[in-house]
Formats: sequence, C-alpha cells, structure tokens
Amino acid sequence: TYPWLSQRAWVEINLSALSYNVKQLLSILSPQTQLMAVVKADAYGHGAVTVAQTVLDSGASWLGVATVPEGIQLRKAGIKAPILILGATHTREQIHAIAQWKLQPTLISPKQALVFSNTLEAINYKTPLPVHVKLDTGMSRLGTNWQEAAEFVQLVQRLPDLTIASIYSHLATADSLDPTTMKQQQQRFEQVIAQLRTLGIEPPCLHLANSAATLSDKALHYDIVRVGLAVYGLYPADHLCLSIDLKPVLQVKARVTQVKTIPPGTGVSYSHQFIASDELRLAVIGIGYADGVPRNLSNKMQVLIRGQRVPQIGTITMDQLMLDVSALPDVQEGEVVTLLGTEGKEQITAEDWANQLNTISWEILCGFKHRLPRVAV
Ligand code: PLP
Repeated sequence: TYPWLSQRAWVEINLSALSYNVKQLLSILSPQTQLMAVVKADAYGHGAVTVAQTVLDSGASWLGVATVPEGIQLRKAGIKAPILILGATHTREQIHAIAQWKLQPTLISPKQALVFSNTLEAINYKTPLPVHVKLDTGMSRLGTNWQEAAEFVQLVQRLPDLTIASIYSHLATADSLDPTTMKQQQQRFEQVIAQLRTLGIEPPCLHLANSAATLSDKALHYDIVRVGLAVYGLYPADHLCLSIDLKPVLQVKARVTQVKTIPPGTGVSYSHQFIASDELRLAVIGIGYADGVPRNLSNKMQVLIRGQRVPQIGTITMDQLMLDVSALPDVQEGEVVTLLGTEGKEQITAEDWANQLNTISWEILCGFKHRLPRVAV
C-alpha cells in the first residue's frame, strides 16, 4: 500500500483534507470575501507548489508568500493566481523579479515606495504594478504607522508606476480570548479608511484577518482573509475549535529499523538519559532531530503503532529515536510508525507537540526538513 516503502521517514500531505479545509473556510465567508491561502515557508512545511495548486482548485483566489523566491517558485510551476509578497522587498533585483514574474509587493514606507517607483521607471515598466499598502495598526512589525497612513496612501497614489491593489494590516492578538487589543487594531484600521474616504480615496480592497480572526469574527473579514494555519487543518487557539471542522493535512511517518530486547538496568541513547527498569522491548525508528523532530521531546513524546500510543525513550538523536514497544512485543522491522497523525481512534497533532514544548504549532510545522519527502496522499 506504500509505494514509497523504501523511505525510512516521510511526510504525508492529505490533499483531500486540504481541499476540505479550504471549503470549510469558504463556507464562513460572504460571497464577496476572497480567500488568500498563506503558503509562505514552503506552505508551512507542506510543500508550496502542491498546496498552492490544491487550494486554488478548491476555491482560494490568492496566494501569500514571504519572499520573492517563494513567489517565483510558484510562477515557475505554472501558477497564475495573484501572489502577494507579505515580506519586505527593497532591492533593484527584487523589484525587477517582482515585475518580471508578476508578483505583487507589500509597500511598507514612503522611502521604499519611491525606490519601487524609480526602479520601475528606469526599466520603463509599461503597466502600473499592483502594490499592497501595509499599515501598522499595533503589531509593531512591517508597515507605516496608522497615524501616517493617509499621507502614505496619498503618496503611493501619486507615484505613476504603481497602482494600489489593497490596503492591509496584520493583527497581533487575534488568537487571544480577550478581544480588546484586536478591536483596537480594527478601530485604527477603520479610522484610516474613514480618513481616506474624507480625502476622496476609496480603498479598492481591504484585508486584516489571519486564521484566528477569520474563525472568530465575520466583521474582520473585509475583502480578503489571509489564512495560513487553518488551511493546514489546525486551530490557532483552543477556544476557536468549535468554529468550523478542520482536518490536519500533514502526517509524519517513519519506519522501525531494528527491534531488540534489553535487560533491566540498560541505558538508552546518548548520555543514558533513560535506564530500563525492567526488561524492555526496544524499537529503533529512522527519524531524528535533523528531520524536524524536536530533541526537546526526548523521553516526553509518544508515537502511534497499530493504533496504540507507544512511549519514546532516551535522547532523540540526529537521524534516529528509540521507542519502548514492550506493549507490542511482536512489532516488526519495517513497520510504519506515526509521529504526527491519526491511527484508528488515536491522534497526535502538531499542537500536542507545541504544547509539550511551550511553543506554537506554526513552528512545529515549519520545522520538518526537506530531507523528509513530501508524499501527497
Ligand atoms: N498575514 C500575514 C501578514 C502573516 O504574516 C501571516 C502568517 O504569519 C498570515 C497572514 C497567516 O497567519 P495564520 O497562519 O495565523 O493564519
């Protein structure tokens, strides 16, 4: 059943779950709101090209990336949908590539807008480049401060080689149970829009929401929602789990490479951080921290074999880790182990690892390295 049987470890990408998540998200948007799937960082580790093709086929209209090379990768794969570069771009090389590959940049400051305009003029760029004006309404990351937004928008409007495709901002606390700060950011965003209207400027398109805002409040949807995590089937916060049903897209699997019995008192792995108190059936698995299994999960994590939870023992090494399979003594070499994913009634998610490590599921997903083949299932 596994055509990639010779692999020691791999990541499975469930394209029907991906498509399902996109459709679930679309079901809570009004017809005039478009879905931008955020596929930066190789689609949060899922594989950007395959994910992009699937989400577009499923009804997403936009793609969001962080960098110019991420956008070019999608264009080279034949993807025609509008691609917004969410990160900052400044250099002539970046601007040339943006123009050549029909990518859409984020404009963050008057200085950068002028560099764009001058560079496009120098290459005699024929059509105005669609640009997205980024406002900082409280994230204190990229963008012009909201108090200076109207002036900035007016400047960009005056620059001949640019056309404003959207005005947007990013929320800092949309996953919080307390909406106060998020509401403050939205109010600032609204204030800018109102100010622009008094100046006779009607913003062509507005966007503010990430996954958490999309799942929590329709009033934050505007014209586009920029959704990353939820597209991949994870919830940005526990209190948003009831909003819509989502299915995790990514599973991490590896193979048992050796099974042996060790006597009581035997130390396992580097530094002997685990000592067997009784005789123990031990399985070695062909995946380690160089694949993206966090070493800090050593002696803490569980995996699934034949639908059962099995404890990991000893320090996780670069390419391998060990399990106590005493409860399943006939486990065979070559058997498949699920590190993240579902077997029968049991499920282990990136969020479970994130909770154990005091981090966030975004970081876990982005941590799986390229040496793990991505297999679409
Ligand atoms: N918008 C911007 C500007 C982002 O940087 C990100 C991701 O960090 C997103 C949207 C998507 O966020 P999420 O994965 O929480 O949906």
